[in-house]
Amino acid sequence: MASIEMRNIVKKYGDGFPAVNDVSLDIADGEFMILVGPSGCGKSTLLRMIVGLEDITSGDMVIGGTRVNDKAPRDRNLSMVFQNYALYPHLSVYENIAFPLRLQNTPDDEVRRRVTEAADVLELHEHLERKPANLSGGQRQRVAMGRAIVRSADAFLFDEPLSNLDAKLRGQMRTEIARLQRRLGITTVYVTHDQTEAMTLGDRVCVLRKGLIQQVASPRELYEQP
Ligand code: ADP
Ligand code: ADP
Repeated sequence: MASIEMRNIVKKYGDGFPAVNDVSLDIADGEFMILVGPSGCGKSTLLRMIVGLEDITSGDMVIGGTRVNDKAPRDRNLSMVFQNYALYPHLSVYENIAFPLRLQNTPDDEVRRRVTEAADVLELHEHLERKPANLSGGQRQRVAMGRAIVRSADAFLFDEPLSNLDAKLRGQMRTEIARLQRRLGITTVYVTHDQTEAMTLGDRVCVLRKGLIQQVASPRELYEQP
């Protein structure tokens, strides 16, 4: 686990107005932080800079006390869950979850132990032999989460993970994500434009607007605001 500190982070694409404009934010070890705001406010860009998928124009990204600006994504030990799941269609559920461990050349018995554990947590044990095409949307999302939790990452990053699901499933997965995060106690950054997710999931909510932080507060503080 690790804290995430952003210091005066700026991101410019070309010559335009900065997509992220001097953002400083401290996320504590084990904290669940929500990034919320209208489309285009810079949420995804910020998340992608934490993971290392986007270069930082200026400022410092510090994870677990180490400046990571120049570290490749694979050297940051973070797990990201994408909106579109990004599952491998030709691989079974088992191998999709196992994938990050295979990349690290984890021994087979360790892989089996960890995949089984993740599958139990996410109630996927009956579906391990299936291919993604034969799963429901909610099950696919769970496989994507299984792949994120199978490795001992320092933090989880979610980019609108539930936006492709119907309302009922969204509610169910919301509960599961909250439960999972509490159980694992892992530092989490969760991007959404959904008010319900923003107000129910996190310890704190960071409201972004036009690349700037407008407010950082607990859901209760936001709710009780006039
Ligand atoms: P959000 O996730 O809040 O919808 P983004 O981080 O995707 O916002 O985008 C922030 C701003 O940066 C927007 O104005 C968007 O058009 C711009 N932007 C995002 N990605 C790129 C890119 N690859 N090239 C140029 N501009 C981009
Ligand atoms: P070996 O130790 O001979 O390599 P393993 O038992 O580790 O064999 O697994 C071989 C393959 O079988 C794995 O790569 C995986 O695809 C599949 N596999 C292993 N255990 C399970 C399981 N519980 N459910 C589904 N597939 C599994």
